[in-house]
Amino acid sequence: GSALERFRTSESEREKLLANQLEAMQEKVAAMEAHSEQMQAQVREERQRALTDLLTQLPNREAWQERLSFEYNRWLRYRHPLTVAVLDVDLFKRINDSYGHKAGDRVLQLVAREMSTRLRSTDFIARFGGEEFVVLLPETPTDEARKVLDSLREHVPGLPFHFSGEPVSITFSAGLTGFQDDDTEESVFDRADRALYQAKDEGRNRVSVL
Ligand code: GH3
Ligand code: MG
Ligand code: MG
Repeated sequence: GSALERFRTSESEREKLLANQLEAMQEKVAAMEAHSEQMQAQVREERQRALTDLLTQLPNREAWQERLSFEYNRWLRYRHPLTVAVLDVDLFKRINDSYGHKAGDRVLQLVAREMSTRLRSTDFIARFGGEEFVVLLPETPTDEARKVLDSLREHVPGLPFHFSGEPVSITFSAGLTGFQDDDTEESVFDRADRALYQAKDEGRNRVSVL
């Protein structure tokens, strides 16, 4: 009887010890999970930062490359209309030279905001660099994209800029083109860029299609 009693006591102590160990282990796992989630959130945040233009808060050139590749591959597969536009603020150097770099920055910020609010949520807008912006318009043939860009172009000069007490009107030019035949990301971009140069050559404040 007493041998059985000793056995039970030692068994129950062993169980208690194991239960404690298990609990400690579970706490450790929970702490590791929390840490890993925190790290993942940090990675997500850093990635977001790396893809965002600081001045305008628009996606930057990196983000553009990523999205362009994605939409291009989709286009290769489904061949739905996909249009690319390159926008460039007209005579922007003059804004900087006349009213200062800060004024120029404000112009870029406001133009970026107008673009994001006026274009469709399925369109992708990025700051390509300097005073150049790029737009991807999925499911949009070029003639339709042209109307969208023209309405933006007609709207932007009405934005209420006042620098050194003077009202200042901003315009932009755009080149656009659609993916066709055996286009690549590069060939489409080159054509959109050429269309932009054409718009500049023809006197600016216009949209040109190639
Ligand atoms: P065009 O109509 O032919 O495009 O003339 P433009 O003056 O707009 O073109 P240009 O390429 O000569 O000048 C672009 C200017 O944009 C020059 C550069 O200093 C200015 N710029 C580029 N990035 C920024 C920026 O982040 N902030 C400001 N304020 N200016 C910038
Ligand atoms: Mg430029
Ligand atoms: Mg310019």
